[in-house]
Amino acid sequence: MIKLAVIGDPIGHSLSPMVHGALMRVLSVECQYDKVHVSKGDLQSFLEYARTEGLSGFNLTMPHKVDILPYLDEISPAAAAFSSVNTVRIRDGRFYGYNTDGDGYKEALRLSGYSMEGRRVVLLGAGGVARVIGSMAAEVAESLVICNRNGSGAKKLAEELSCKGKVIPLGMEFTDQALKSVCTDCDLLINATPLGMEGMEEDFEDLSFLDQLPSHALVSDLIYCPARTKLLQRAEERGLAVLNGLGMLIMQALLADEIYLDVSLDRQSVFKQVCRDVQNALITKNEN
Ligand code: NAP
Repeated sequence: MIKLAVIGDPIGHSLSPMVHGALMRVLSVECQYDKVHVSKGDLQSFLEYARTEGLSGFNLTMPHKVDILPYLDEISPAAAAFSSVNTVRIRDGRFYGYNTDGDGYKEALRLSGYSMEGRRVVLLGAGGVARVIGSMAAEVAESLVICNRNGSGAKKLAEELSCKGKVIPLGMEFTDQALKSVCTDCDLLINATPLGMEGMEEDFEDLSFLDQLPSHALVSDLIYCPARTKLLQRAEERGLAVLNGLGMLIMQALLADEIYLDVSLDRQSVFKQVCRDVQNALITKNEN
């Protein structure tokens, strides 16, 4: 049996045990996957625990994705490019860091029939996950606009990404007026803010910017709880294609499991089976 964990603070809400549990069942791998509460500053003692308990690896969420970097023996090119690690594999007592968030999003988009390549991308948010997705968009998109509540954060990220690829990203403050104006030239709108997330009181106050999007645009919300945020509901009412964050959640876990198990999976087939299992588990969870 392999032993894995997810660490973070807070960690109670994490769906990682459910998703990795579903993946391991589909793969017929016996696995113990625990949630471990690790406070900021307590990584060293967790790493000692992980070694002595014989963990094969662990996933990381807030606030450890950057703090883990100095503790690693090796880091993958993707994790180095994003300066962020969400998966650590332990081999012979050594720690290897990876980031599967970016490829998880890209693969989830691809399996839904979309891609960022050659698209005009508008990214809402300039936090950790926006940085990862923005880095990938900067390499392949036709254009990239980053809108953030804190306008200087958007500009800083845009500047940082300007050397990544062919586009010169634009950073701006997230205002109703700015959103309306950037949505007219947008093929892919990505929400990488927690607005509309379960447990978050705040939501988009005015969604009329969606009316400016071309009819072929995809609205992608990284939130998966609820499955249909107000942003996605309103986009659907307008007849736009929508995608929630469940695909990314499952795909980044699937890519992490490939690393833990040292295997290459039939991603499309495993993804389909796990999506069904996780959706059913979420429905049961919400009913209780
Ligand atoms: P983060 O690093 O904390 O960044 C949050 C971003 O949202 C920042 O740009 C922040 O703006 C903005 N924001 C926060 N509250 C806001 C508000 N009330 N109004 C407008 N903007 C606000 O978080 P993260 O890790 O990037 O995660 C962002 C979202 O992605 C979360 O909803 C998370 O659940 C989701 N996510 C999904 C997956 C998945 O697998 N589907 C994976 C990772 C994350 P400021 O700079 O102004 O603070």
